[in-house]
Amino acid sequence: MLLLTAAAGGLVLSHVSFIEHSPLPSLDGLDRPSLLRLWSLAFAFALAIFIVIFALSALFRREVLRRRRSDSAIGRFRQAADASSDLITIMTTSGRIEYVNDAVERSTGYLKDTLVNIWPSPRMPWYNDAGLFRQMRDTVRSGGEFMKDIDGRTREGGPLLIGERVVPFRNDKGVVTRMVSTARDLTRERHLEDRIDYLGRYDPLTGLPNRRTLIGQLEQSVRAAMAAGSSLSVLILDIDRFKHVNDLCGSDAGDDVLKQIAGLIQSSVSPADIVARTGNDEFCVIHVDERNPVLAGAVAQQLRTALSQTISAGGHDIIVTISTGIAVHPGHGDDAWTLLKNADLALASAKAQGRNMIQFFDQEITNRVKEFFILERRLFAALRNSEYLLHYQPYCDLQTRKVAGAEALVRWQNAELGVVSPARFIPSLEETGMVIEVGRWILETACNQISKWERMNRHFPVSVNLSMVQFRHQHLVAMVRDTINNFGFDPRRLTLEVTETVFMQDMDFAIKTLKRLKDVGVTLSVDDFGTGYSSLSYIKKLPVDNLKIDISFVRDVSRDQDSASIITAITTLARSLGLKTIAEGVETEEQRNILHLLRCDMGQGFYFSKAVSAGEFEKLLL
Ligand code: C2E
Ligand code: CA
Ligand code: CA
Repeated sequence: MLLLTAAAGGLVLSHVSFIEHSPLPSLDGLDRPSLLRLWSLAFAFALAIFIVIFALSALFRREVLRRRRSDSAIGRFRQAADASSDLITIMTTSGRIEYVNDAVERSTGYLKDTLVNIWPSPRMPWYNDAGLFRQMRDTVRSGGEFMKDIDGRTREGGPLLIGERVVPFRNDKGVVTRMVSTARDLTRERHLEDRIDYLGRYDPLTGLPNRRTLIGQLEQSVRAAMAAGSSLSVLILDIDRFKHVNDLCGSDAGDDVLKQIAGLIQSSVSPADIVARTGNDEFCVIHVDERNPVLAGAVAQQLRTALSQTISAGGHDIIVTISTGIAVHPGHGDDAWTLLKNADLALASAKAQGRNMIQFFDQEITNRVKEFFILERRLFAALRNSEYLLHYQPYCDLQTRKVAGAEALVRWQNAELGVVSPARFIPSLEETGMVIEVGRWILETACNQISKWERMNRHFPVSVNLSMVQFRHQHLVAMVRDTINNFGFDPRRLTLEVTETVFMQDMDFAIKTLKRLKDVGVTLSVDDFGTGYSSLSYIKKLPVDNLKIDISFVRDVSRDQDSASIITAITTLARSLGLKTIAEGVETEEQRNILHLLRCDMGQGFYFSKAVSAGEFEKLLL
């Protein structure tokens, strides 16, 4: 500006001197000096106007520039605010909203247009509590800072938890003119915390209380029962062989089964009873207001009936049985822990006795269960310590009485326990999954023996039993093929025995697996035939070679007409299908004679020989 004035001044001076020396246009009646003054005056005036206009336009340009800069600063601020994950709200002191950022829209579900500059103002409509809003407003208006976790509500009515901090905004004179709220959306965090808390107390799959919660509830129930002088029972229910369901049908189907079972348990106990899931395949029922322990047995029976049904899951029909252990207060314990422990012991005893059992706790159980656990522990080391051996029991032609084949039967010889029957330890092997490893050893040992006998020119088939778990194992067919190839013999020499119960679980799967085994070239026998299905006709669908008539029919054949009729039905069916029959458990000459009359092909049993070592078996052949 200074430069400009100087320039203007210079211009005026040069102009005056220019006028002084140049010829001037004359105005009538004015002498030259007056004319000169007039011109100079007009010129100075014009110049002043020019300077004023110039200065104003410069000022105006500067203001536009400043505005533009400030607008872009606000734009940047808005951008930054919208990018923030925190909820930012600017309000007047009366609570009318002037500005909200995008996060407010995202978290509360309210659109900006429905919030900003609305009169009467929506006053942060996600505030659930009008009193709380007033408290916030009063605090901030009076210059204070307001901090609180607000339990709000989204536009859809959903939960909203925000950690809010509202501060006053003052003008130049220090007067509070605005309230600025910055808030963090804590809804997800709280949801997570709630979830963690829930998971700590409930089973997410079934929604039932978990073990921890149950113990708390049981403690309460025991206290109440003691105060009232009444009794209560703790029932622990365990699904028999549930591991197989998971192994065979997949864990999704397993989960589905558990959910269905949880539902069945809940619907078959009284509403006052407490149901919890205390383990993977274990449920617990607290039956309260119980004056008679026998009634606990009735509850268990009722549950067993309710659960004894085919459950469909993941395309499989699964037959479920449960074992139940019961402890009753008073008598079996006066606190939650003792009652649970004793019900657990009763359960273990029920399992050790077989499946589908109900067992009350008693002192003797402790000893029996201990024994069972000792057995199971020793079983783990048995394979490594070479405690298993294979014996061979012959089956003979009923007409010629000559050895027609052998069944390999596993024996377990333990230094402390002596010889343990497979009927006692095979279920444990199945339960623990060890049967896969032990089963492989049995197959290899039997195949090794077959190839030895083949080299000795002794040609007869040897059967190996397959348990349910082995039959369902995904590598079974490959393992059988590889083992036969390793030892190199005619695959027809190996017979695999599978029980009927294997088909009961899933007929389609059984047929597929049997066909694949047939493709390997082995011979197939149905073990314990006649015990599983009421109808025998399903056998037509199976690609098998032999039927082994169950020992229960053979035992009674000489006394019981029904057994004889069943055997006749089986042998007739077998002949029509081109299958051979082998009667199990033939102990007497009489049985042999009748079975021969009933057109049974072969017999196996103590009448011919018990199971013996391979060396002794060779002597039998002579
Ligand atoms: P199983 O397959 O039905 O085997 C026949 C069982 O009947 C054998 O009992 C055998 O010793 C017995 N037995 C044979 N003749 C007679 C008789 O005249 N009278 C009586 N009362 N019993 C007779 P064992 O060896 O105790 O085997 C019991 C079960 O254990 C077998 O029943 C089979 O299911 C299972 N098992 C045995 N060895 C193996 C094996 O190597 N692998 C698998 N997975 N299971 C096996
Ligand atoms: Ca068998
Ligand atoms: Ca059998």
